Amino acid sequence: MPLEFVLSQKGNQQLINKDFVYTTVKIREDKHIWKCVHYNRHKCLGRVWTAEDIVIYENDKHNHVPDVAEIRVKEVMASIKQKAETVMDTPQQNLASVTSSIPAAVAGILPPVAGIKRNILKARQKAAGAM
Ligand SMILES: [Zn+2]
Repeated sequence: MPLEFVLSQKGNQQLINKDFVYTTVKIREDKHIWKCVHYNRHKCLGRVWTAEDIVIYENDKHNHVPDVAEIRVKEVMASIKQKAETVMDTPQQNLASVTSSIPAAVAGILPPVAGIKRNILKARQKAAGAM
């Protein structure tokens, strides 16, 4: 199975493995070492090593439940951002079209709307500046 990734809010690539999210610790020539994103908050010791797009080692002793909803939120935020950069609708329209099809459980834990709209405008300015 190919590796799955999402982008963090800061735009860093994060690994998804079995419904847990990992962030980069170290990139070496032979492998890429990832730690659970809850390493700081929960002192979680979940780790994954990958090499050439496969998982070569994993410690999945997480001390918390899987991040299923959180992963969906990241995906929603990524598509909002992508839309902001490519489609010239208003932040309200962008938000409405992306969020109309997501489950209520995910919609309920999205960041505050005002912040999302700010991010849409920011992403758009950045995209426009790059053109
Ligand atoms: Zn964990």
